[in-house]
Formats: sequence, structure tokens, C-alpha cells
Amino acid sequence: MSPLIRRVIARNASPFTFKGTGTYIIGERQVAVIDPGPDLADHLAALLAALRGESVTHILITHTHLDHSPAAAALKRATGAKTYGYGRHGSGRAEDRAGIGGVTEEGGDHGFVPDIELREGDAIEGPGWHLTAVETPGHTSNHLCFALDEEKTLFSGDHVMGWSTSVITPPDGDMSAYMRSLDKLLRREDALYWPTHGPAIPEPKPYVRTFIAHRRERRAEILKRIAAGDETIAAIVEHVYVGLDPRLKLAAGRSVLAHLIELVEEGSVASDGPPQSDARYRLRR
Ligand SMILES: [Zn+2]
Repeated sequence: MSPLIRRVIARNASPFTFKGTGTYIIGERQVAVIDPGPDLADHLAALLAALRGESVTHILITHTHLDHSPAAAALKRATGAKTYGYGRHGSGRAEDRAGIGGVTEEGGDHGFVPDIELREGDAIEGPGWHLTAVETPGHTSNHLCFALDEEKTLFSGDHVMGWSTSVITPPDGDMSAYMRSLDKLLRREDALYWPTHGPAIPEPKPYVRTFIAHRRERRAEILKRIAAGDETIAAIVEHVYVGLDPRLKLAAGRSVLAHLIELVEEGSVASDGPPQSDARYRLRR
């Protein structure tokens, strides 16, 4: 991909992963691996083949979703490298927000615990490369991006993807945090993003602004639907996501819920009980 960046793509293509998880290798001879990916034997074999003759010094995790972190354990066994990440799944959540914590979340890798916990600005270095951790909660509460100083490149994980908007799934996904983390990227000067899924993003700022505008639009549409009498998430999804791939319906519902939680917390929408999938919503006057 560049003098310092290589990528191995896992064969886990799906409506959520696009062509599959992109595992990045940073540096030469003494290298870091970002997001080893899903626990698939052929992916690990391909990764180890790409790493032949080199030593892995760091295994970095952007966040604990099942298509990102599970192969860390096998890669650690094969290489002896330590794992680095924000913390275990859900570790970035401040508290059990609005009573929605009981909702089970699919897709989380609850088995991953990093050897070393990273926080904003922490440096991870090898010969000829310097990475910096950038806290970007929202997609998950423990999401990190990694900036490669030498190339002004940001590994954006699932925070900013190259082919679709990020899925925000409560209770661990948090729309307000996600919007703040998008704003945070606008204050940085990265020249290029490499997301885990999809192609590179050159000139990232206009791209990030498009995502921010998209979410504001969606939020406005949801408010409009509630004003028009839609009381349930199913009704809102039906009207807002016209022509949606049926496999993505559940994710769309979770995304609407993420907006509703924010709207309830702000006080513009009321719900009968905690804002959950099966609650009823109305405008607060
Ligand atoms: Zn993810």
C-alpha cells in the first residue's frame, strides 16, 4: 500500500465487512499488526505467510468486534507479541446508560483483553515507524484509531470506513460519542485514512464532513417521522430506509435506536420507559 504499509484481507466478506477485514502490517522486519481479524485458519495462515522472516513486536486492536480482534490470540501464540488496545469490550462505557444495558449485543469479542491498555496520545514504535493512539469512541466505546506519523496516515478502523457509514449499535455504540469523534478528526491533519473495510480515503476531511451531514439528516428525518405519528422503530425504519437490503434491517433499527437514545437524553423525544428497541416514542412538547 505504501513503503511502510501492507494489507492482508480476510475472506469474511458480508454486508457488514464489505470485501472482508483488512489486516495491516506496519514496517519492515520488526513490524506491528493492526487488527489481526476474525479467527479463520486461512486468514491466519495468509497473515503468517506475509510475515515470514519478520518479527511481530506489537498486535494493535482498533476495537473488539468479532471481525477485528479474535485472531489476536492465535497471532500472539505464533509470534509472542503483546496485544495493545483500549480495553475489553464495553470498557469505554461510562455507565449503564438510560437502563439499556440489559440488551444483549451481538458482534462483540468478549474474550479479548489487551496486555497493554492504550490511551489518547500513547506511542507505539518500531524501527522507522511511529504510531499514535487516537481515542475515537462511538462505533464501540473502546474504539481507537492509529496515526502513522511518517506517512500522515490514520488507520481509522470502523470509525470511518471506505465504503459505508459506521454502524452504531447500542448499548456499546453511542451516537453522541461518535459525532464527537468525527469532529475530533476534523481538527487533525491526516493526509490519508486506511479503514479496516474498503479502499483508502484521500482528502479525508470533506469525507468526514459528509458523514456528519448524513447523520444530521438522518436525525432530522427521524424527528420528522415521529412528528408524523411513527411511534416504533420498525415504523421509522420502514419510512426512512426505503429499499433497504433486508439483511441490514436489524442494523438499521439499531442505528435508529442510537439516534433515539441521543434524542431522549437531550429531551426532544420521550419514550414509554427506557429507550429500547420495543419502546414507543413521541415528541416532547
Ligand atoms: Zn466494528
